Amino acid sequence: MNQLRLSAAVQSLKPSATLAAAAKAKELKRQGIQIYDFTLGEPDFITPVNIRNAAVAAIEAGHTHYTLSGGILELKQAVCSAYKRDYGLEFTPAQVLISNGAKHSIHNVIAALCGPGDEVIIPAPYWVSYSALVELAGAIPVIVPTTEASGFCMTADQFRKAITPRTRLLMLNNPSNPTGATYPVEQLQSLAQVAIEKQIPVLSDEIYEKLLYKGSEFRCFASFSPEVAARTIIVSGVSKAYAMTGWRIGWTIGPVDVIRAMDNLQSQETSNPCSVSQHAAVEGLMGPQESVEAMRLEFEKRRSYVMDRMRPWRNRFQITFIEPGGAFYVFFNIAAAFGRPLAGGCVVQNATEFCTALLEQTHVALVTGDAFGAPGYVRLSFATDMETIRDGLDRIESFLSAWNLTKFAPLCLGMPMQSLCRRWRLSHSGRHW
Ligand code: PMP
Ligand code: GLU
Repeated sequence: MNQLRLSAAVQSLKPSATLAAAAKAKELKRQGIQIYDFTLGEPDFITPVNIRNAAVAAIEAGHTHYTLSGGILELKQAVCSAYKRDYGLEFTPAQVLISNGAKHSIHNVIAALCGPGDEVIIPAPYWVSYSALVELAGAIPVIVPTTEASGFCMTADQFRKAITPRTRLLMLNNPSNPTGATYPVEQLQSLAQVAIEKQIPVLSDEIYEKLLYKGSEFRCFASFSPEVAARTIIVSGVSKAYAMTGWRIGWTIGPVDVIRAMDNLQSQETSNPCSVSQHAAVEGLMGPQESVEAMRLEFEKRRSYVMDRMRPWRNRFQITFIEPGGAFYVFFNIAAAFGRPLAGGCVVQNATEFCTALLEQTHVALVTGDAFGAPGYVRLSFATDMETIRDGLDRIESFLSAWNLTKFAPLCLGMPMQSLCRRWRLSHSGRHW
């Protein structure tokens, strides 16, 4: 049979690891298996009622046609008003482009600014799609590793050292997916100074701007000075703050010429984002904001619970992590578990194997840090209900506790993970976790 030849760009493109992990968990649930699903970074709340009603009203009013490719003026104005209200920042609608979710916005920025051979600086750990979208454009991700010791924040010095004559963009994410890190304002400002000095454009992904905990401060990157604003393209959207992931509305705010170029691109690629969703997003931004704080408080409660449960793991299991200042993720290092017998006698050698074994043995689904440029780590999204969080953490704890059963060790060490898991399943068939 003749196979259609795929383009080189698509052949080397991996599927989004977050969406793939979530799809795997969904498929197991569909088969009737109870899964403790911590994969997906999306609020579990239904979109607030005023926003849902605005969408119904938009449909009834006949807003069912194509809109301007870059979005309706009303939504661009709403974005400008929200930045004025929330941060005192002045933007004009010509500086705003509405897209099909912030992921699309990121793709637009990279496609507008980067081409083959260009370098894009990305601090690691980074969100899965960053490196993939850079590579799709034929550009080269230049990964700058950060550590728990530095709060997973890149320093100005690291940024400066990563710059070459081919650098075309810095991609920053604050608050961060997957680490939950939030940049101290002074550190952000020192990055901005380097960006001006070296004339490097900055994509500042601020999608988690409204989800902050325990006194963490958010500062819009463009806010430091007009020179910084002239080099910054802000990316954000309604997905996280308004629990609107499925509606697919994100935006970019930046210099008018870049916005115009991305609008041209979008007009050829996708036309406008969904007309009804745009009207719903206007209500999200301009309507009552109480639901944003109510959801944030709920996330904060979950975060506190997860931290209380996980802190003892530091001593008990040599698991390390930073306490998230924002977003809804805990990113923890499980490298101490490698090569030791875990529940079911599994011995894993990396984070991807750890996630597979955990899912098989305990039905808990996490995302491997390998997908975020951070081997040895796994990501847990606490954007799920308290019961799932409580039971899921119990299961992770049991899974890890097994390595205290040292009598098991000589039996298991060195045996491949799959055969160990299989042996354990056979000998414990019917056991319910
Ligand atoms: N940036 C980051 C850091 C994210 O975690 C996500 C996940 N949704 C996005 C962008 C994309 O969001 P959207 O749903 O608006 O495409
Ligand atoms: N951003 C979310 C996550 O990291 C949603 C999944 C995705 O868009 O890749 O889980």
